[in-house]
Amino acid sequence: MAERLEAAVGGSTFAGATALQFSGLKTFAPAAESLVGREVVGVGRRGKFALFELGGPRIAFHLSQGGRVDIEDPPKTTRPKPAVVRFRFDGRPSVLLKEFGTERRAGWWVLAEGDDGPLAALGPEPLSDEFAELVTTGKDQRRVHTLLRDQRTVAGIGRGYADDILHRAQLSPYDTLAGLSADERAALLEAVHTVLDEGLVLERKRAGGLPTKIGDHFTVHGRHGTPCPRCGADLRRVSYESYEVTYCPPCQTGGKILADRRLSRLVR
Ligand SMILES: [Zn+2]
Repeated sequence: MAERLEAAVGGSTFAGATALQFSGLKTFAPAAESLVGREVVGVGRRGKFALFELGGPRIAFHLSQGGRVDIEDPPKTTRPKPAVVRFRFDGRPSVLLKEFGTERRAGWWVLAEGDDGPLAALGPEPLSDEFAELVTTGKDQRRVHTLLRDQRTVAGIGRGYADDILHRAQLSPYDTLAGLSADERAALLEAVHTVLDEGLVLERKRAGGLPTKIGDHFTVHGRHGTPCPRCGADLRRVSYESYEVTYCPPCQTGGKILADRRLSRLVR
């Protein structure tokens, strides 16, 4: 998506941001208006944050769970609901950050030069040597699924790709990093690279911003009740930590059906 935004507004002049929701802007200073007239040197990404690079200062935005993006060509001045902010660029399309569904958690940050803001807390990128080292030698006692989703540990993977990565690596949703063998660690690292590379290939076929329905990229995530693409068994789901994880029992847990911990607590 950052690449598509780069194609749409890269090299243009930033013309301002119109806040369309009170709570979307997460910074007080500098004001977005103070950056008007700056060149959009590029549109980049760090973890799940998209970044308008303005030659020192940056504007970051995060889609969270329900955030979506419209590239508006020609630019619009409507006030759609629910929307968060519209970024404007001289002579180029506008970029609308909006919300889909009821989770209103997408946000944006205006960052002065040298201020990393929310980026400062991010772990390494998933395809970096630093993360490869962590997977290969790390003694983290947490579940791999939890670790993959923790943006301070590795930045950019959400629960959808975490499900697909575990399925690809044939690891149980309940496996911990510390408990993995050398072969399992190698399989995990290979899965991180393959799943994200394949996701990028699919994402690069998209045109425009980011549409409402984006789950079609996943191999197993959200596909419980349908056949496993590897073995044909029914994919299952299990809930923990307020998340649902999709997995294949024959491929990932030796055939074992995982207990739904939230449900068993309620039943007890
Ligand atoms: Zn399977």
